[in-house]
Amino acid sequence: MKELIVASRNKGKVHEIRELLADLPVKVTSLLDYPKIPDVIEDGATYEANALKKAMAVARATGTMTIADDSGIEIAVLGHAPGIYSSRFAGKGASEKERNRKLFKMLQGMPMSKRRARYRCVVALVDDKGDEISVAQGTCGGYITTEERGTNGFGFDPVFLLKRYGKTFGELSPSLKAKISHRARALAKIKGVIQRSI
Ligand code: IMP
Repeated sequence: MKELIVASRNKGKVHEIRELLADLPVKVTSLLDYPKIPDVIEDGATYEANALKKAMAVARATGTMTIADDSGIEIAVLGHAPGIYSSRFAGKGASEKERNRKLFKMLQGMPMSKRRARYRCVVALVDDKGDEISVAQGTCGGYITTEERGTNGFGFDPVFLLKRYGKTFGELSPSLKAKISHRARALAKIKGVIQRSI
């Protein structure tokens, strides 16, 4: 079976992508299986540039088709920050809990109506030589809570409220997240291309 590497060591991300691609006849691995490959510096100006950079570096180092995901959270009232800086805006090495606390601080005193947020995910697929095959993106709208709720998912999920369900992604089931998330939407768009490329 052909291999597809997910260019990430983020266990939450890798797990979700693997589940979303589970019905394709492809062996999905990740950088967790390639400990010697160094982390790629995400210095692009856009999600797309970062996703392509990660995918190309890994494909060229391994000679294997690769998919990379660059994602982030955008808060309307903060001018769509932290966006591409979502993993770093609370300082390098900050934990997920520290990042969530930082978001609460930035939104301190704001009513729910001003706490609108959007997850964005851009996925880039490159071939075994590191040449671009396709890029796709998905978004998912919600609100930032005032406290962490639930333990499902990863990252900002316990503070990301889906108005329609009155629950955060931390509280909702992984199977529902797999239907409506930014990542699910991006992968749904690129899945046919992966199928044709394997
Ligand atoms: P990057 O794509 O590796 O740059 O990570 C972006 C940041 O967004 C990280 O802090 C992730 O934890 C966070 N993030 C991305 N996707 C999700 C998600 O589905 N749920 C929660 N946090 C996420």
